[in-house]
Amino acid sequence: MIAGGSVWYRQLHWQIAIAMVLGILAGLAGGEYLADKLGWIGQLFIKLLKMVIVPLVLTSIISGVASVGGAGLGRMFGKTLGYYVVTSFFAVLTGLVLVNLIQPGVGADLVDAETKEMPDVTVVTSPVELILDIVPQNIVAAAAETKMLSIILFAILLGVSIASLPRRHREPLAGFIGAAFQAMMRLTSGIIRWVAPIGVFSLILTLVGTTGLGSFKALGLYALVLLIGLSVHLFFTLPLILRLVGGINPIIHFKNMVEPMVMAFSTSSSGATLPVTIRSVQKKVGVSNRVTSFVLPMGATVNMDGTALYECAGVLFIAQVMGVTMGFEQQVLIVVTALLASIGAAAVPSAGLVVIFIVLEAVNLTGPQVALIVGAMLAIDRPLDMYRTVVNVFSDSCGAAIIARSEGETEVDTVVVRG
Ligand code: ASP
Repeated sequence: MIAGGSVWYRQLHWQIAIAMVLGILAGLAGGEYLADKLGWIGQLFIKLLKMVIVPLVLTSIISGVASVGGAGLGRMFGKTLGYYVVTSFFAVLTGLVLVNLIQPGVGADLVDAETKEMPDVTVVTSPVELILDIVPQNIVAAAAETKMLSIILFAILLGVSIASLPRRHREPLAGFIGAAFQAMMRLTSGIIRWVAPIGVFSLILTLVGTTGLGSFKALGLYALVLLIGLSVHLFFTLPLILRLVGGINPIIHFKNMVEPMVMAFSTSSSGATLPVTIRSVQKKVGVSNRVTSFVLPMGATVNMDGTALYECAGVLFIAQVMGVTMGFEQQVLIVVTALLASIGAAAVPSAGLVVIFIVLEAVNLTGPQVALIVGAMLAIDRPLDMYRTVVNVFSDSCGAAIIARSEGETEVDTVVVRG
């Protein structure tokens, strides 16, 4: 079933799809020159999305939690974490099996591959450090730095506190924050409606216009293995989980999620995509704010299936290139640390490749040659990053839909919503 239809060219997902194709063509024709001239539009679009993230997430979580109170929260937290761990684990296993089967690193010649410098992304390395890092000592500072987990923690605690207030204080406050959330959703919709097509055009144009394809030759098989692995997770594992656990038709879910997926693809950032994800999961998939506010912001930061698959496959690839055999115990260690590294990865471009060093250290793969191989992997990382970000975002949305169904929301993903 389809709801809310209008002429096809007025529908946002068509506009974005056309913008992508035009972006590719313009990038091929105009190269770096056009990218230089028009790249700012894509930057502007990402800035607008980032502008709404903190107020959107804060008001969404506080009003979501304030409406349910502390009662159902523990149960939802358990389901959410369970979903994150199980799906990330399947993703890692997919990477593990494929790299062992296809062995893309054996005999790979990286002599001619270009290398790139690592971007500067901070990495938290121990669980204690992670916990200390999450608790904000100043919520304004945390908001200013967009520290998502700190913002989420504060919002949940404040929501619980509001829910426990006497009625005369609770109702006006919860009503006010709920209204502020609706206003933020309206603002987000406006940005997506008016800027997304041209923003996506500019982002894709810049990408195509400035990326050389030389390194793909040396790392071709490695890239192919990742594409296969990510596709298996996106088109087989997650739809199967949607169907079996949530009783949801995956095709309807895919159709409702087109916009966030395109956005993830063109921004390479689950964080920047979050406002679009929240909007589509609420307005199209039909999940309540109570569930989305809980599952999506945390999922954008913590639940990264594509990245988890990538960590595992990437490290095994490096070991193969260096001729190091990884035994069973070391592969188990890689699986566990790949999961942790994906949790630690920030929701920004290339974060996955930066945290790969956590996994490499765990199995003692260090030294200049490793750094060189990672540098070569970075040179072709962008398209892989785009695809793993799509998988990351899609997994979050499946989690929201499944958990909503399990909480009794029977209307979730029953129709395809257009517009
Ligand atoms: N870019 C990814 C994301 O934002 C993270 C990664 O690099 O794997 O989800």
